[in-house]
Amino acid sequence: METKYKRVLLKLSGESLMGEQGHGIDTVRLGQYAAQIAEIVGMGVEVGIVIGGGNIFRGLSGAAKGFDRVKGDQMGMLATVINSLALSSALESIGQPARVLTAINMYPIGEQYSNRRAIEAIEGGEVAIMAGGTGNPFFTTDTGSALRGIEIGADVMLKGTRVDGVYTADPEKDPTAVKFDEISYDEVLARGLKVMDVTATAMCRENGLPIVVFDMDTPGNLLKVIAGENIGTRVY
Ligand code: UDP
Repeated sequence: METKYKRVLLKLSGESLMGEQGHGIDTVRLGQYAAQIAEIVGMGVEVGIVIGGGNIFRGLSGAAKGFDRVKGDQMGMLATVINSLALSSALESIGQPARVLTAINMYPIGEQYSNRRAIEAIEGGEVAIMAGGTGNPFFTTDTGSALRGIEIGADVMLKGTRVDGVYTADPEKDPTAVKFDEISYDEVLARGLKVMDVTATAMCRENGLPIVVFDMDTPGNLLKVIAGENIGTRVY
């Protein structure tokens, strides 16, 4: 099958990894993600991944409870490393090689990230899981994935969420919300839509990295996006 994209950056939120449990890492959800990812690598797609850490810790919520913001963000970055290790383990258990590259050196938990290492890994059929966000506090993994996607020369950033695209309002709260098939970066910013944070959206715009927001929690959807099926919302 012809694939629409050759090299992708897949962003997974930490929160989605909780599955039905409400906390931590749900191994069923993790296994479903791993299977969907291995399937597209098997078709020759080069895959880089950035995972969030919101299922374990968020710096901003920590600060609200009295944690120092920088330390809280560092805890959040470590949370993304935990999730990345979990995903690499799930991928390897089904025979899909994966390499964890960390923004901050913590060898031997992972190798230190460089874009050359990530590109070597994906060109060799491994999944490159780029952990630790940007390595800096006051950023998010959305910005980390915009940055890594641009660095590795991805054709697109695929933002896998539990919602099936970008809506005029939060569809989980507002039943009148309408979904966009396509929307420009400028309109996302002007309408203040919570697709990604402003920094991440601006980076994608400046560097021409399109984003596809889609529901990753339905098995088979990642393949549909790769095949060019019009599910989700394209931000361009
Ligand atoms: N974080 C950070 N710098 C980064 C990326 C992440 O400080 O470059 C921290 C931040 O505290 C954030 C947490 O890691 O709240 C988890 O990441 P994020 O909230 O993006 O995860 P998600 O919401 O996607 O699960």
